[in-house]
Amino acid sequence: MNLPRHPITDLDSLLGPSGFEVTCEQCFELLDRHVELTLAGADADAAVPGMRAHLEGCPACKEDHESLLALVADDAGHGAT
Ligand SMILES: [Zn+2]
Repeated sequence: MNLPRHPITDLDSLLGPSGFEVTCEQCFELLDRHVELTLAGADADAAVPGMRAHLEGCPACKEDHESLLALVADDAGHGAT
């Protein structure tokens, strides 16, 4: 007889690379790296997969990201004193 495929297989394809999203905890840990890469002109979204998707859906982390980005950018601007 034909057994149905294990549900995890379908779930797995559902959560492919494009659907991957970090948790708030991972987001917090990766925030520095993402901001640094962004300011360096690198493709931060590609380097830190799941970050962009999380920021789109999590206002709290998005705010953290934006304030850190502003802070680091400001810091870099005043670094040559
Ligand atoms: Zn979050």
